[in-house]
Amino acid sequence: MAKMVITCALTGAETTKAQAPALPVTPEELAASAEECCKAGAAIVHLHARGEDGGPTADVKVFKKAIDLIRKRTDVVVEITTGGAVGMTPEERIAPVALEPDMASLDCGTVNFGNDYIVNTLPIMRQFASEMNKHKVHPTLECFDVSHVQSSHILIKEGLIKPPYHYGFVMQVPAALSLTPKTLGYMMDQMPADSHFTVMGIGRAHIPGICLAIAAGGYIRVGFEDNIYYAKGRLAKSNTEFVERAVRMSKEAQLEIATPGDVRKLFGLRGA
Ligand code: ZN
Repeated sequence: MAKMVITCALTGAETTKAQAPALPVTPEELAASAEECCKAGAAIVHLHARGEDGGPTADVKVFKKAIDLIRKRTDVVVEITTGGAVGMTPEERIAPVALEPDMASLDCGTVNFGNDYIVNTLPIMRQFASEMNKHKVHPTLECFDVSHVQSSHILIKEGLIKPPYHYGFVMQVPAALSLTPKTLGYMMDQMPADSHFTVMGIGRAHIPGICLAIAAGGYIRVGFEDNIYYAKGRLAKSNTEFVERAVRMSKEAQLEIATPGDVRKLFGLRGA
């Protein structure tokens, strides 16, 4: 029986409590949400940190507090962002990797982000991949566009990214690539053989993303970073609610739900 890996992106950089009152923001709230999500079936949590004002921060101390609290409560695999937030420098974005989380996102190209943009040149990508190797942090190769998958080939060829490759296809970001069976299929076609991938359907692509991941042999990501609505016009009550639905849908599709231990083995993470 194949196993479904579910990631919950707890908070992100953009969503606010005003938009989604149930959004976890403080390290304590993040840890509580991580524990609940793991109990519900998420094997990985994807982590952004927020400052006192609730806005995104790259402060390593805040990341450390959140990671320490999460690890006290649950064995869930911790993946931190290195995409950070619009306006952060590459140095700020990569700094929390020194805390040795299990995994980290590695953006594989520059991308429009609504009215903003996030810069990821090849030199930035090389620097990030080297730092992750140094701290034994497994990258999730986040691709917002087909060309990003192709950029990842350069780093793979240079030996900076080692198998097993795990792609994260971030689709339907405003002004970036939309999610359709065709666009996802083309992204998948560009991956090296035996790669793993998680579909991250943003906003209204949330449920199509889950369905396509199940159909195409990929993994699922849910959570307030990607989408705040559980159903049309109805805000999610918690991250857990999203995880529970992804679990139900996967089980109906005859998939077993991967545990954090399964993911540690799958990607050869620390403590596997
Ligand atoms: Zn993120």
